[in-house]
Amino acid sequence: MWAALAGGVGGAKLARGLAAITPERIDDLRIIINTGDDFVQHGLRIAPDIDTVVYTLAGIANPETGWGITGDTTNTLDQLRRLGADAWFWLGDRDLATHILRTEWLRQGRTLSAFTARMAHNLGIPEHIHLLPMTDAPVATEILTPGGWRAFQDYFVRRHHADPVRAVRFVGSATAQPQLQALAALRQADVVVFCPSNPIVSIGPILALKGMRQAIEHRGTDGGARCCRVAVSPIIGGQALKGPADMMLRGLGHEVSALGVAQLYAGLIDIFVLDIADAALAPQIADLGMRPLVAATIMRSPDDSRALAETIAAAVAE
Ligand code: GDP
Repeated sequence: MWAALAGGVGGAKLARGLAAITPERIDDLRIIINTGDDFVQHGLRIAPDIDTVVYTLAGIANPETGWGITGDTTNTLDQLRRLGADAWFWLGDRDLATHILRTEWLRQGRTLSAFTARMAHNLGIPEHIHLLPMTDAPVATEILTPGGWRAFQDYFVRRHHADPVRAVRFVGSATAQPQLQALAALRQADVVVFCPSNPIVSIGPILALKGMRQAIEHRGTDGGARCCRVAVSPIIGGQALKGPADMMLRGLGHEVSALGVAQLYAGLIDIFVLDIADAALAPQIADLGMRPLVAATIMRSPDDSRALAETIAAAVAE
């Protein structure tokens, strides 16, 4: 069994590759997804990272954006604006069905995990691929900008992640119970993969939950049942391919490079996959006690995702 930690777009792209080699090379795949970006808009519960992973694995994600449903329309959003709503968050008509149903399930007292599993099943994702929210409890990522603390989507979408980032916090994470299957997966997996997601606001909230980081750390010690822990860098040539990961690293005082990401993951990772463009950083990554693996990590197509997943599987098998 493999466990993968994922945020939205970068996470979903590698998750799609891992899913493509399941069950041939991975008997059982558990994808643990960040929920710190979740929020309520127009009374609906939105879970952007979960939806991005589900739509991507179901083959219905918009290939241009990496999120939303391909070919979706915006009649509802247009009408909301006509009625005077401050509709700053893009919601497609078909996408809205997800949010309506999720909100209904949660209102009935059912869990986000149960809804996510049901949604994945109904969209045709095979049974041996499990999509697990990191927690069923509310956790909210907030960003400290010069204008004060902002809710994540306010910073990210409404203000186009243009504000300098001074600090990040995950409200609720100290008391939130991690999703039990997710925690068990980290304790038992043969391989743990950190997808190339934003290390601060996609992987960070997962590691901040009680027991998650410790479970992964423990797998690298002689006291733990050792497994192979692999991370793929989301930073290539000193830049994020998309989104504010580079600005965030800079704002928080980290080095803005694959090496900076590797430093954040020290003690958690055995194999660090960095892009061919960053091959020169390999010796410094080795100095952190990780095995550097130089590969083509830009996933423009499902074939690219699969190839990267195969590369990881081959490295793990060695
Ligand atoms: P978000 O929640 O939608 O921002 O998604 P993630 O946190 O999962 O992904 C954002 C990160 O994915 C950014 O830092 C990007 O640089 C990285 N990313 C996106 N596409 C790729 C890719 O094809 N390869 C790699 N290595 N990183 C990618």
